[in-house]
Amino acid sequence: MTTRREFLLTAAAGATLAAGVSSVFADTYDLVIKGGRVIDPSQGLNAIRDIGISAGRITAVAANLSGGAETVDASGKIVCPGLIDIHTHARGKDMPEICLADGVTSFVDAGSQGAEKIDDVVAILKGAPNQGRALINLAKTGIMPMGELMDLTRADVGAARAAIERNREFIVGIKARLSFNVAGDADLEVLKRAQEVVTPFNLPVMIHMGQQVSTMARVLALLKPGDVVTHMYAPEPNSILDGNGRVMAEVRAARKRGIWFDVGNGRNGHLWWNVADRAMQQGFLPDTISTDWTPDGRTSQVFNLPNCMSKFLMIGMPLNHVIACCTTNAARAIKPFNDRGTLKTGAPADVAILELREGNFDYVDNYRNTRKARQKLFPFATVLAGKRVPARA
Ligand SMILES: [Zn+2]
Repeated sequence: MTTRREFLLTAAAGATLAAGVSSVFADTYDLVIKGGRVIDPSQGLNAIRDIGISAGRITAVAANLSGGAETVDASGKIVCPGLIDIHTHARGKDMPEICLADGVTSFVDAGSQGAEKIDDVVAILKGAPNQGRALINLAKTGIMPMGELMDLTRADVGAARAAIERNREFIVGIKARLSFNVAGDADLEVLKRAQEVVTPFNLPVMIHMGQQVSTMARVLALLKPGDVVTHMYAPEPNSILDGNGRVMAEVRAARKRGIWFDVGNGRNGHLWWNVADRAMQQGFLPDTISTDWTPDGRTSQVFNLPNCMSKFLMIGMPLNHVIACCTTNAARAIKPFNDRGTLKTGAPADVAILELREGNFDYVDNYRNTRKARQKLFPFATVLAGKRVPARA
């Protein structure tokens, strides 16, 4: 039987213990993101939760966490893994930082430059606050307005391999633009050379499809698992649809064997609502949503990644799936990002806080077709490696 004195002693010890515990909890987290709707498709999570962050890593995802040295109030906002844009052109000074403010904590510069100037891109990536990687353009000149692969001597396999060799950490694959105005009628030869470049490195090819001479069936036959098809909703000639508007069997088969289909919003010839609608009606959704962002895209059509994501909400994709495209799926597509795109405990603490506003919004495809919608995602705040990114001036 417990005496009154023993009971008091036990209670006092308990109180001391509790005080000790709470003082430990007081600095358990460097940062707590409080009260947001956490949407993390990597763990099937869609609920109001707090995120606890310590030493640059996610350390807790739970209701009612307390004791952060710093707190971000995310009530009414969406909290998701830091966004990953697998097709952008953030190759200039300050550009990675602009994307970071949009919630993009990891990105891929998709083939802006080839062997001759890729080192300049890598220098920008090395200096970027966010995780930046690059695809090297098959053409040693990089993108040329008149078509970098019109002269096939620019598709220099040896030069591209040497450039990858000296930038192994930053070059994550090769980009081959196959459109008629880039490669003429040599699209298949171009693709073969791109594969030849990356074979010794076991890296993916990203093809820029749309308006190419060869059928998708012939193009896809030259792709291997892990390769990426960007501009998936480009119109004819040779889109992902057959003459009757059906998603081609070869396209579905390619996805089945591990080829990724990416949006690559862009501004010219890459996105037509009609193709997106038809594919969507047949359940052929994107694996990844990317911007194909450039400084010019900042003020027209593209704007930022949350804007491009919003277009797919309008077309009828569920929010969870839209977020998966820019988090867990994108992380799986790009090897150095494999540990990102998730808010699981232990993961790097890259977090995007977005606001889904209701109102009247216009979205335009690359053919000046405007559509109205009631919802739009806006960047609200970004956390990179456990630290809140200061708002840009
Ligand atoms: Zn591009």
